[in-house]
Amino acid sequence: MPKVLKILKNPAKSLREKSLAVDENKIIIQDFKKLAEDLEETMIKKEGIGLAAPQVGENIRLIVINTKKGPILMFNPKIMKKSWLKEWGEEGCLSVPLVFGDVNRHKKITCVFCNRKGAKEKINASGLLARVIQHEIDHLDGILFIDKAKNLKKIDEEN
Ligand SMILES: [Zn+2]
Repeated sequence: MPKVLKILKNPAKSLREKSLAVDENKIIIQDFKKLAEDLEETMIKKEGIGLAAPQVGENIRLIVINTKKGPILMFNPKIMKKSWLKEWGEEGCLSVPLVFGDVNRHKKITCVFCNRKGAKEKINASGLLARVIQHEIDHLDGILFIDKAKNLKKIDEEN
């Protein structure tokens, strides 16, 4: 059974480290499989639209993105193409609770990654999906959205 992992909060050290690429021949082995499933479970239970391995203290290049069609796990995600056009949009992060701000992101991207079976995949994303992928890949390079955001605001905790 996958388990919900503890999400590190800023300024945890792991959030600021550059994560290492996963050996693509080892994706289907138990260690990575378990982490990937736990990461997926954690994102769903915490109602995130994306989550990166460094947020649970693992500095490897693995992210999970929630889409209408279900979660997509991406090992070694890499943006190959990005639109010249950017757009501003509001972001938040499970590692920076209750803080929101506007970030300028590429409107469209093409991202290549290794899927959960260790096979190469390519995704063309735009709008929110493109935004989330860029946000999560930033985590793999030790970058938080608050580094890039404007109009940062902290909301009061409700209930
Ligand atoms: Zn985040």
